[in-house]
Amino acid sequence: MQDCIDAGLVSGETVHVDATLIRADVSWKSMAADHADKVPAENAEQAENVPAQNAGQPAGTPTADQPQPHASAKPGRPRKKPKSPKKHSSTDPIATMSTSQNNRHLEPAYKQHTATDDKARIILGVATTTGEANEGQQLPRTVERVETATGKKIGHLTGDSSYARAANYYQYLEARGTEAIIPPQRVPRHAKKLPARRFKYDPKHSIVRCPAGKVMQQSSRTEKGWLYRARACDCRQCPLRQRCVPRTAKARTIHIVDGYEALLRARRERYRWDDATKDRYRRHRWIVEGVHGEAKTQHGLRRAVRRGLDNVAIQVYLTATAMNLKRLAAFLLHLRADDGAYDGKHDEQNDNDDEAAHVHLTISPLAGRGKATSVRYLRRFCNSTGAI
Ligand code: SF4
Repeated sequence: MQDCIDAGLVSGETVHVDATLIRADVSWKSMAADHADKVPAENAEQAENVPAQNAGQPAGTPTADQPQPHASAKPGRPRKKPKSPKKHSSTDPIATMSTSQNNRHLEPAYKQHTATDDKARIILGVATTTGEANEGQQLPRTVERVETATGKKIGHLTGDSSYARAANYYQYLEARGTEAIIPPQRVPRHAKKLPARRFKYDPKHSIVRCPAGKVMQQSSRTEKGWLYRARACDCRQCPLRQRCVPRTAKARTIHIVDGYEALLRARRERYRWDDATKDRYRRHRWIVEGVHGEAKTQHGLRRAVRRGLDNVAIQVYLTATAMNLKRLAAFLLHLRADDGAYDGKHDEQNDNDDEAAHVHLTISPLAGRGKATSVRYLRRFCNSTGAI
C-alpha cells in the first residue's frame, strides 16, 4: 500500500468502509457438535446431583431446591425468551454463525472489514474478525489504521447503516472533524405506542419532556445510555396514557443512548445532503462493495482456504495486497503507454482491460502533475519486485 501512496494513487480524503462475510472452511456435518456435546455432560451432572438431593425419598420425586429444566432465575414470568443454543463447528470453533441478510440462513463465517480510498480504489486497511463481530464497533480502529497508514486525516467517511451507532461513530467522527456520510437507521415505528421521537431530550439539564409536557428524570444507567422515567402520578392522570404507557407498566420510560444529540444531528443532516455528498455515498456502493465482489469472484475470498482467525487474516491480507498490486501495475502500464514505450500488442490488451481503463479515468488528472515522481517510484518498485 505504501507504494500506491508513493505513486499518488491514494488521496486519503474520502474513505469508504464496509464489511463482508467470508464462509469458514468447515462442513455442515461438523456443526452443532458443541451443543450435542453439552447434552450428555449436563445429563451426567444432573444424574450425579439427583441421588444426593433425593436421599430418603422415592426415586424420581423432585425436591424444592432441585433445579428444574428451563426454570427462570427469578419467580414469575421470564423477562426474556430463552436464547437458542449457539452452534459451533468442531473443526473451526472460532468461526461464528452469521448472515448478511435477514432472509438468508446462518453460516459459519469470518468477517473482513475493509477501508478503500476513493481515488483509485486502493485498499487502505483490512481487518479480520469472527462473523458475529459488529462492524460499527470496529469503526474507530479502522479510522486509526487508515490515518496511520496514509498520514492524513480522513475528510469524508462513507458507510452503510450498519455503522449507524450514536456513541461509536457520530460522536467519534464529529470529535475528529470527519464528515460521516452514513445514513442513520430508521426510527422504529409502533402504531400503538407514542414514538420516541415525540419525546424532547434536553442534554443541558439531562431531562426528557414527554408529549404531555411532563418532565422525565434519569432513572437508571444501561450499557448504552440512560433510562428516563416519567412519574407514575403524571402518567396515571394523562389522557395519552393508553397510547403511551404499556399495559403492564405504571409509567413510560425512554432510553437515551450515549451520543444521542449527535444521532439527532445526523438524522437532520440526512435530509440536507447536497449533491456532492449524495455522489460520495453513491460511490461507496460500487467502490468498496465492488472491491469485496472482486475479492470474492476473482481472488477466491468467498470461502476461507484455512481454518482459524490468524490463517483467514493472512488470506485477507494477501488478497488485499494482490488487488493493490493489480491497480499499481495497471497505473504503470498506463504511464508507460503514455510515454510511448509500449508496443501495439500491449496497447490492445490495455484497451481491453476494464481495470486499466478505470484507473486511466480515475488518475488522468494526477498523471500530468506528479508523473515524474510517480514513474520514479513505480519503476523502482517494479525493478525491486520484478512485477512487470
Ligand atoms: S402517559 Fe406519562 S409519559 Fe406519556 S405523555 Fe402522559 S404523562 Fe407523559
